[in-house]
Amino acid sequence: MRRLLPDKLANNLYHSWKALIPTLVDPQLKYTTRTHGQPLLEVRPVISACTYYGCAQKRSSIVCLLFDLLVHHGLFPTAPSQPRMAVSMDLLAFYRALFERSCDAIHALASALKTHYMRRGFHMTTSDGQVIQEPFRRGLGQAVQWFDILQIEVERQTEAAVQICRERVYEARRPQRKEATGISPTVSKTTLHQGRCASVLVQRCPACFGGLLFGRPLGEGGDIHVATDGNFHHRHRRSAGDCPHFYDPSYFLPKTQVDNVGHHILSQRKRAPKMYNSLVPNEAIDQCENSYEAADGKKQKAAMDSFDDTGVMALICRHDVPLFFANIDSPGEQQKYAVALIEHLFSLLPQEATVITLYDVGCVLSRSLSQYDILPGSVTVRLRFATTAMHAYGHEWACQLEYNPRMCAGLGLSDGEGTERLWSRFVKLIGIQRSSSRQKRLWLIDRQAAAIGMEMRADLGDWIKRRLKRGVNDQGAIAKEVLDRCGITIQDLQDEWADQKKSQLSVRAHAPARLKKELDVVLALQADLDASDRALQATRTVVEKDSATEHTLDALGSLERSHDRLMNKVEVLYASLNVHDKFPELQGIDLDFVRTLLMARDLKINIRKRAIGSFFEWDKLDRAVGGTQQALGTKLHQQTRKAIAKRQPALMTAIRKFNSYCERLESLYNPSWGVPLPAPLPTKLADLRNDQTLMQDVWITPSVGNVP
Ligand SMILES: [Zn+2]
Ligand SMILES: [Zn+2]
Ligand SMILES: [Zn+2]
Repeated sequence: MRRLLPDKLANNLYHSWKALIPTLVDPQLKYTTRTHGQPLLEVRPVISACTYYGCAQKRSSIVCLLFDLLVHHGLFPTAPSQPRMAVSMDLLAFYRALFERSCDAIHALASALKTHYMRRGFHMTTSDGQVIQEPFRRGLGQAVQWFDILQIEVERQTEAAVQICRERVYEARRPQRKEATGISPTVSKTTLHQGRCASVLVQRCPACFGGLLFGRPLGEGGDIHVATDGNFHHRHRRSAGDCPHFYDPSYFLPKTQVDNVGHHILSQRKRAPKMYNSLVPNEAIDQCENSYEAADGKKQKAAMDSFDDTGVMALICRHDVPLFFANIDSPGEQQKYAVALIEHLFSLLPQEATVITLYDVGCVLSRSLSQYDILPGSVTVRLRFATTAMHAYGHEWACQLEYNPRMCAGLGLSDGEGTERLWSRFVKLIGIQRSSSRQKRLWLIDRQAAAIGMEMRADLGDWIKRRLKRGVNDQGAIAKEVLDRCGITIQDLQDEWADQKKSQLSVRAHAPARLKKELDVVLALQADLDASDRALQATRTVVEKDSATEHTLDALGSLERSHDRLMNKVEVLYASLNVHDKFPELQGIDLDFVRTLLMARDLKINIRKRAIGSFFEWDKLDRAVGGTQQALGTKLHQQTRKAIAKRQPALMTAIRKFNSYCERLESLYNPSWGVPLPAPLPTKLADLRNDQTLMQDVWITPSVGNVP
């Protein structure tokens, strides 16, 4: 059996390393200062810290090694005591840059070194001449890991020194700022408040958190946009075990912090939900929740058997810069990860700052926060949710009106899709981290995030320039052209939109849903009977082909007769439901039309469910290989695609049937009824996905005034 927990030997080793690293900070800094921008030093036959090389050299054998002397000469040990080998720090620094670009490649480097030295004529042997199979792997792994820890220690000390300077500069400028408050700028009649974000945030994204004025109203877009998303590909195999503690992640929240949020949520959920004022009907949010659970829930639970960590939840800013992560290590209650990240963010923001969070199931989380005291009121009044633009189709229309970022005022170009871009950069880590030790997995992701974050911060200027050009200017011009061509004033369009929104969000628009239920049942019964009718006919053809006995034919005939009677009874049942009574609005409209309309409505709901299901599958698949753009044709990927394609005919049949209903409705149509005709749906999945009408319910009530 493999050991899953670090043993005493490993503990001692890590302990020695941890004691050694702080002593190397100074030599490392000196080495960097000496070599920065300089040609590399030649390795001397005798390593010495002597600054005056003219001294006469005297040799005597001693059994002691000064680590700072090694570092002074640009060498890093492969063990914390009695190392047999040291690695050039320049090679380690180069490897670090390589890691940031590709990913962990220790095995490749170790094997490459062995091959390289062999070709150069050096064979690594033991003292008695035996060739060593893997001479570098272990030592190099240790050197890379602890050289990185040394780097982190150096960075930490430098950052602390710089932070002291920042504080001094801030204090020195304070008097000037006091005067400035008198003419504090106002945005849309709201007074903004002075404040400062925690330094860690400012360092991660100065464009988001470097500001000094906060309190823009949420209805106008708020101060800060963040997006959060979970990824369940970044797992850790239970059997890969763990190593002793060696690194405090800077992006991952501590496990205890996340777990405490989880306990708090559970205890709050035991209470009765609070009454609250919701814009979106509860039924709609329930639907959203179901469609996401169906897409994610089951797979999650199964994964816990062989994996102890099953994913990563990320929080990023509107420029896609990673801010914080939470490690997903439990099935079930998933809200705790998002809540912990949001809570952590708020703890680092000024008192007045407002935040909009984009999240796949933002609508569901928003409702939970309103129903239960999960976050303090001082936070929830400054927090608003939106869903992500990409998965908008997973949400009910009523929900989209309130939560779709494309329909929220003030969200601008924020679409919540930045997490997808982040995940695609992390793809290369998926394989390695599954079999690393638990802490090494966090270390790998954390360091990769730091590298990506630094790079993104440097690119912020260009990022904003690109968005301004392609987003604001180009898209703005197109939108303007459409507006100019339609010849209606913007004010009129806005009023019209507000009206539509109001009527579609009204509870009344959802009330008939309950009344429609019995109709649905009857329609389903009818569909079943149609199917059994076909089965009966098929039976008859088969039976008649062979010479059937009188008795068999009698039985069949009797079956058919009772089936016909059943059909008639369903017709009577249908008539007795009296559609016209239930929907007085439909009075005076041809019954056949109403029936087809109801069937079309029913079918469209069914189509939508199927379509959303397959959209989710496509997305997940693309995500697994790193985004839609990346055509990575692994065998498994292709197979899954085929499996999805196989399921498509059912969806396509349904769409064709729906389209035939549309034709029939059009032929029966009388404009004076005032019922908008449903539009046919495209029969290609890609077109369907971009189809605006897919999300709209078939209208079964006449509209007042103009048909929209
Ligand atoms: Zn000397
Ligand atoms: Zn930002
Ligand atoms: Zn929703």
